Amino acid sequence: MPAILDDISAEILDLKKQIGATILAHYYQDGDVQALADITGDSLKLAREATHVDSPVIVFCGVLFMAETAKMLNPAKTVLLPDLQAGCSLVDACPADKLDRYQEMLRINGRQFQTVCYINSSAKVKALSDWVVTSGNAEDVVRNKVPPGYEILFVPDKHLGRYLQEVTGREMILWDGSCMVHEIFSVGDLLKMKKQHPTAKTIAHPECPKNILDLADYVGGTEAMIKHVGGYAAPTTFLVATEPNMMWQLQQRFPQHTYLGVPGITCACNNCPHMARNTLEKIRDCMRTGRPEITWQPEFDKAKDVLARSLLNPPKSELVHPHGD
Ligand code: SF4
Repeated sequence: MPAILDDISAEILDLKKQIGATILAHYYQDGDVQALADITGDSLKLAREATHVDSPVIVFCGVLFMAETAKMLNPAKTVLLPDLQAGCSLVDACPADKLDRYQEMLRINGRQFQTVCYINSSAKVKALSDWVVTSGNAEDVVRNKVPPGYEILFVPDKHLGRYLQEVTGREMILWDGSCMVHEIFSVGDLLKMKKQHPTAKTIAHPECPKNILDLADYVGGTEAMIKHVGGYAAPTTFLVATEPNMMWQLQQRFPQHTYLGVPGITCACNNCPHMARNTLEKIRDCMRTGRPEITWQPEFDKAKDVLARSLLNPPKSELVHPHGD
């Protein structure tokens, strides 16, 4: 790491003590950021871990919907997000007013449905949903928590929804959203890589389109990917179809393997531009100034209940017919 970044990292660690902060970082953050964090994880792990933080401040190195989730599950904490502009193409794909109108149209047409939203959505969309899922718990929620006899309106990720339909056999109405990173992996390049590395194993995130998933040896969210790779003792080459910073985390945990990122169609690195907004400088600055802070919004009141019953494993009795429709 260049000396200047070393200095900033040292300052961040000092500030952490001064203000009483815990740093959470998503696996899609730059390696320098993950290295500084107290806790790294996927959306599900970070949402759950945030509820066990005992410091007064959480610095959330991820995107806005993740920091909002941490705030909703921990209203008394100060939650800082280094860059408020760190958004997500999936959130943008599903405006709450459009979802509200669509749900109303389904009700008028006599459809009996529950809405399952991927955690990559705004708090307003979560408030309109029956369940919130991550790639880590989506299959469980769809299989075991949505009562039989209900249609499922799945928003906003059509690729994850299609994959869930395939593995659970439950029919879904799919919203037309996608992740700008996972949408554009190059099938042609993946085929070339498979030819060059015939014994390599391909691992892919379920946000990828079907043509990539069909070529994968393993499909799973980031936490599941780590578990899967951990099952290989002998040095193995993995072709990785998810945000490339994930390879930093894999390299730290299982350095005996080789990780090769699958390139995007238009960009060889295929990094998420939203995650990349959280630089070390911005992390330091938000800890110095206490800004930007995630403040409580009216829609959080409802969304937090949906989040809590979906992600925090409440007793089964609380899980039936949450909206009664
Ligand atoms: S990788 Fe995709 S889903 Fe994740 S934050 Fe970036 S745009 Fe959103």
